[in-house]
Amino acid sequence: MTVGVLALQGDVAEHLLMLQKLRTKAKEVRTIDDLAQVDRLIIPGGESTVIGMYLEESGLMTAIQKRVKRGNFPIFGTCAGIIVLAKKIRGKHIPPSLKLLDITVERNAYGTQIDSFDVPVKSAVLGKKAFLTSFIRAPKITKAARRVTVLATHDGKPALVQQGNILGATFHTEVYDDTRLHAYFLSLS
Ligand code: GLN
Repeated sequence: MTVGVLALQGDVAEHLLMLQKLRTKAKEVRTIDDLAQVDRLIIPGGESTVIGMYLEESGLMTAIQKRVKRGNFPIFGTCAGIIVLAKKIRGKHIPPSLKLLDITVERNAYGTQIDSFDVPVKSAVLGKKAFLTSFIRAPKITKAARRVTVLATHDGKPALVQQGNILGATFHTEVYDDTRLHAYFLSLS
């Protein structure tokens, strides 16, 4: 299995390190050719307006959507990654998005960089022990369709969600040592 990490902008290196810790082959994805060589994809956090724009410019937007339609292509988006996966986005600037995850997200819903925070979050799919998360200029999921399963919440709002083999987190975990969430993503088919 080769896991692609969308490497247009954002915390690409941290995700690659997680995959290395899990002894999984990884490849940076920047082009449609790169995409054809991977079996699943991680969309890192960063700046969703920039990531969304590059996705369009590179042709990866439609290429990823087509790949998902063909089936068996799990995707994991964190923070800006979940924003560009979302069906609906609210906020000052609305980036182009893949519209693969039936949720509404509000960008920068917790405030600016200085309002960022770390908090332990629990999810039944990851076992009993809570995992540490960082909410960095994080979005908030304000609506999730019925077909979306909420795997973890923070402050009463969904923070980790899954729709089929599409996984999305409003926070970052790749900045910590805990590889459980990435391992869970790798288990999806
Ligand atoms: N605030 C960023 C955005 O809306 C997301 C921040 C992040 O990925 N840590 O794109």
